[in-house]
Amino acid sequence: MGLSEDVARISVITALPEAVRDFLGASVLGRGIASGKLEVSVVDIRDFSRGAYRQIDDYSFGGGGMVLMPGPLESALESVAGRDERCVVYPTPQGVPLHQEMVEDLYRASVAKRLAIVCGHYEGVDERFVERNVDVEFSIGDFVLTGGELPAIALIDAISRLVKGVVGKERAVEEDSFFSGMLDCPHYTRPSDFKGSSVPEALLGGDHAAIESFRKEEAVRRTISRRPDMIARAGIMPYLRKGAYVLLLHHPVLDKNGMKSTTAITGMDVHDISRACRTYGVKKYFVVTPLAPQREMVKKIASHWITGYGAAFNPDRKEAMGLVKTCPSLEGALGWIEEREKASPFTIATTARHGAGGAHWSGVKRRLLEMSRPAVFIFGTGSGLHEEVLSRSSVVMSPVSGGKGDYNHLSVRSAVSVVLDRFFGFR
Ligand code: SAM
Repeated sequence: MGLSEDVARISVITALPEAVRDFLGASVLGRGIASGKLEVSVVDIRDFSRGAYRQIDDYSFGGGGMVLMPGPLESALESVAGRDERCVVYPTPQGVPLHQEMVEDLYRASVAKRLAIVCGHYEGVDERFVERNVDVEFSIGDFVLTGGELPAIALIDAISRLVKGVVGKERAVEEDSFFSGMLDCPHYTRPSDFKGSSVPEALLGGDHAAIESFRKEEAVRRTISRRPDMIARAGIMPYLRKGAYVLLLHHPVLDKNGMKSTTAITGMDVHDISRACRTYGVKKYFVVTPLAPQREMVKKIASHWITGYGAAFNPDRKEAMGLVKTCPSLEGALGWIEEREKASPFTIATTARHGAGGAHWSGVKRRLLEMSRPAVFIFGTGSGLHEEVLSRSSVVMSPVSGGKGDYNHLSVRSAVSVVLDRFFGFR
């Protein structure tokens, strides 16, 4: 998600209200609350206890430490918002590890309802309170803290970064780790030379393009070396040094009997694949056929949407159709790309046949990040790409698949969308 203007409304239910208030008053969080972009209240559980001792905890049945009693907790919660107006979260080491998507969900909950964060202590909170009231349990790591206040503050802090204007520089937030699905690059400030160690040259020259590519390359390098697991979920288009292309081949492909053949162009492929390409930032969509009348047909369809009646009728389609390019051969298309990009294309042949393809898509994704070559995804029509295309490609990618069943018949339009989303979809 992008940053939002909507105010986050949060309540912290705690036995340590002063500690929470101190933290909320400081720095970026404090300014966000003072400006009204975040609305945070702190509720003292003891205000809802009974008796002179303001008791909120008791011994664990069966032995063990102290446990927060369900009664005062539930009364405190009810003082914050009615059942339908609240989303209740409980930080606990037994919860789901907190991550960016979860923070975004909880921010949306804090806008639609009120987010109530219940801080545990001692052994935790009475399980019946959790069963009756808690919607989400989250952990901030595989270790145990003495109370839920620090996790509560961590969550509020992470939410606050999603509210427009809380962190002054919006771009800085969007370049932070996890926002785009990658880790951030390293940062430096003055002095440019610190005890003999200097700031990378690229950052000092004032050349914005060089700075941008240094940062992206460093972000890629860090993510691959520290968190390779993140690459599978990241949309890598902004990090590629060259563009990405889609080729739909009508020759040489296989017919039903496994013979080399030429297929006819399908109008739907022209429309749907161009829209997928535009959505994911692909630079050009080549429709490849040796048959001149077929290429003419594609040009006619495209020009209807680019310059004809369709252009005014549906400008979105015009943008997509503007990516379509016809070509008589695979070699011709690759030559065109090489000339534009000044680098030899890295060709990724796709197949629906298990056993025909060697490379898993997650490994291919990583390789693309490590090279300075345009990425060319080649899709076949008919019964798939001919062996001569597979054998000449830089890599054959293992099929997108619904599992180990024997039915694997996606339309080429579906396969293109699935592949593009795996490589370029925003997490
Ligand atoms: N008996 C609990 C267990 O082993 O799961 C640990 C209780 S802990 C000492 C006390 C409180 O601190 C918890 O109820 C929770 O609110 C908070 N807490 C401790 N570690 C946490 C973590 N890693 N993430 C989120 N909350 C944590």
